[in-house]
Amino acid sequence: MILITLQTPAEAKLIRQRLIQEGLWVRLLQGERQTFFWVDPSSAKVDLDYLRSLPGVAEVIETPSPHPLIDKQPSQLDVEGIPVGFGAPPCFIAGPCSIESESQVQFLAEKVAKAGAAFLRGGAFKPRTSPYAFQGHGAKALKWLRDAADQYHLKVVTEVLDTIDVPQVAETADLIQIGARNMYNYALLKSAGRAEKAVLLKRGFSATIEEWLSAGEYCLMHGAKAVIFCERGIRGFDSNTRNLIDIGAVALLSHVKKLPVVVDPSHAVGRRDLIPALSRAALAAGAAGVMIETHQSPGEALSDGSQALPLNEVGPLFAELRHMGRGF
Ligand code: PEP
Ligand code: MN
Repeated sequence: MILITLQTPAEAKLIRQRLIQEGLWVRLLQGERQTFFWVDPSSAKVDLDYLRSLPGVAEVIETPSPHPLIDKQPSQLDVEGIPVGFGAPPCFIAGPCSIESESQVQFLAEKVAKAGAAFLRGGAFKPRTSPYAFQGHGAKALKWLRDAADQYHLKVVTEVLDTIDVPQVAETADLIQIGARNMYNYALLKSAGRAEKAVLLKRGFSATIEEWLSAGEYCLMHGAKAVIFCERGIRGFDSNTRNLIDIGAVALLSHVKKLPVVVDPSHAVGRRDLIPALSRAALAAGAAGVMIETHQSPGEALSDGSQALPLNEVGPLFAELRHMGRGF
């Protein structure tokens, strides 16, 4: 495909006329931060240098890839001052599955910061399989999360479930999480992109790598500053582990596509005893970091207690992983 990036939306009308005159069939794609023309591959052949010479054209990309913006993303990202990706130290994200109370998140923020995490995670809006399960404390939990993170100089990762909540989640989060269940929710991907923050994009349970990358393309096209991919396991057939962690996808994204991937071993296997081994595997395969659920009392957690790493194990695990670096 050919993608023409404009300097400003103001040039769109004139440029469209020129492109049509050249026999191109084009569609205007209006992102929040950038405006593009997508050129239909079945239209006339055209000299790319001519397109580049048109006044108002910033860039012309020709690629067989359906996700050129993701392909062009730098291999090291800056997430509110935290480097993530190639050449950066491993990025550690930790916190509870759900934010259960203000005191809980305060307590865990201190522990997680001491353990060496750069990001505090915690769900205020929870995507639960059962409508009877705890759904999260919503907006008030966002405030608890932000306050706790600020007190311990942590960055915030939290999930947005609904387009209507994007502005308030974006106000709180340094990294907006799109959950596995919503990887295919294109309205939400666009809306999260428009918040102009970095996005942590979880892989859908049954998503191919290409579908996952294209979901990232939606976020970038609509204004996201960056996309970090999060492998959290795909559906397998064996119930000993909750999901099947796809280490091959981690190696492919990291080594071949040079994209930052964070692995979430908690959701991948659903059991705390395997988290250290899978975290090592993740970094050895090239992951830029790990995201781990932890809890002050896993047996009493309102969600995902079985996959919460006990607090006293988080620091030693991160210390060990830090020495592994990126593995290449
Ligand atoms: C989570 O990280 O809290 C979560 C719900 O994860 P996933 O979308 O991977 O199930
Ligand atoms: Mn969870």
